[in-house]
Amino acid sequence: MKENALNIDSSKCCGCFACKDVCPKDAVTIARDKAGFLYPEIDKEKCISCGLCSRVCAYRNGNDGIKPQKVFAAASKSDAVLMNAASGGIFSVMAAEFVRNGGVVCGSAMSRTENGFEVRHVFADNEADLKRLAGSKYVKSATDGVFREAEDILRSGKKLLFSGTPCQIAALKSYLRKEYEGLITVDLICHGVPSLKLFNDYISFYEKKNSCKVTDFSFRDKSRGQGMNYRITEKSGEKLREKVKNGKLSSYFGMFLKGSTYRKNCYSCPYASEKRVSDITIGDYWGIYQEHSDEISRAGLDNRKGISCVLINTGKGSDFWESISGELNYFESEFQKVAAHNDQLVKPSARAANRKKVLNSYIKDGYKAVDEIYSREIRIKKYPYILEFYMPKSLKRNLKKAAEGLRNKGRK
Ligand SMILES: Cc1cc2nc3c(=O)[nH]c(=O)nc-3n(C[C@H](O)[C@H](O)[C@H](O)COP(=O)(O)OP(=O)(O)OC[C@H]3O[C@@H](n4cnc5c(N)ncnc54)[C@H](O)[C@@H]3O)c2cc1C
Repeated sequence: MKENALNIDSSKCCGCFACKDVCPKDAVTIARDKAGFLYPEIDKEKCISCGLCSRVCAYRNGNDGIKPQKVFAAASKSDAVLMNAASGGIFSVMAAEFVRNGGVVCGSAMSRTENGFEVRHVFADNEADLKRLAGSKYVKSATDGVFREAEDILRSGKKLLFSGTPCQIAALKSYLRKEYEGLITVDLICHGVPSLKLFNDYISFYEKKNSCKVTDFSFRDKSRGQGMNYRITEKSGEKLREKVKNGKLSSYFGMFLKGSTYRKNCYSCPYASEKRVSDITIGDYWGIYQEHSDEISRAGLDNRKGISCVLINTGKGSDFWESISGELNYFESEFQKVAAHNDQLVKPSARAANRKKVLNSYIKDGYKAVDEIYSREIRIKKYPYILEFYMPKSLKRNLKKAAEGLRNKGRK
């Protein structure tokens, strides 16, 4: 007989599956709800009622994090790193430094399989394997099995850099139950995650509509500058074509950005706060032009290639930051300046008014229904998005500068 393992209220489960990793009887399994979100279930015949699954659940205990000590605006000095990363490539710089010194890095990787895309946390101990970890995947990354492996690595005396969403970092720490000198944790500022099933159904819908097979997908592409463009690689017959598209015109991205498709718990996330659970937090430095228009170019930064905000939360984080800062262009900023443009440092994402309608339609009629709702919603709005995408970069830059000028005038 299978039961919901922890009597879980779905708004209090982040789907980390530390409960599965900790179970000594392998009694916890993974169940998928109709919208594709994964939750733990318990096999009552195997369960010995030891209570470990409940005890390891970090999410129930809330956020015991700390406020950042220092805040920076930063980006890698390497263009190759920047082009592969969602924002300033800080993660790749940290990860490369770590493996060069014999450490192991854990982060989210995406791969195409027979049954669609798989997104899961993997381990890498060399620079070639790190490439898979770079870049944001705007979907839930699976971590079952990962906490056990992380513990084995740390127990063997190796150093581990573990990256992920704040709930994944809190889950790791709760699973380990003790401090390891060799562990560095890096969390992302996170607004929420849709299910992998939704993403794969979106891909199947796209393939059917465009008579092709999608062989690769990158959630952020910077060839047209920093923003929400994505890159999709399609195969039709023998032809392989790479296309860059505006995320705001895609129903998957549109619903993601609006907050219509996240896991239920994301809307009450205890980690969307100034209190951080990791050694270092990284995110996009949205609004940097408003906060630091003079310092950007002085520090050798370029917003078209991506600039990150970096929050140094612990002494360990500070020492590590010192060891990589030579590879970065950066300057010091302030928490309030970053948080002014990044709500998820203050509060969880708001649940979009259409979430129920979107997910119910998806469950009833499949992904096509989600796409239809989005098409109706952006009927008029889509023209400025199209214009923005095809506008020459120089014109875009000049318009941005003019807007900044007006904003600054307004402030004086
Ligand atoms: C689901 C999600 C929501 C986000 N929301 C925000 C936000 O609201 N505000 C903001 O400022 N930034 C957000 N980010 C972070 C942002 O997109 C960049 O990842 C971040 O700025 C780091 O950029 P980078 O260039 O240093 O590293 P990148 O190379 O872009 O990032 C790679 C790192 O991201 C991790 N990662 C990628 N996808 C996932 C995933 N699905 N789950 C867990 N870890 C993942 C990898 O393990 C690796 O550590 C979000 C990222 C994700 C994945």
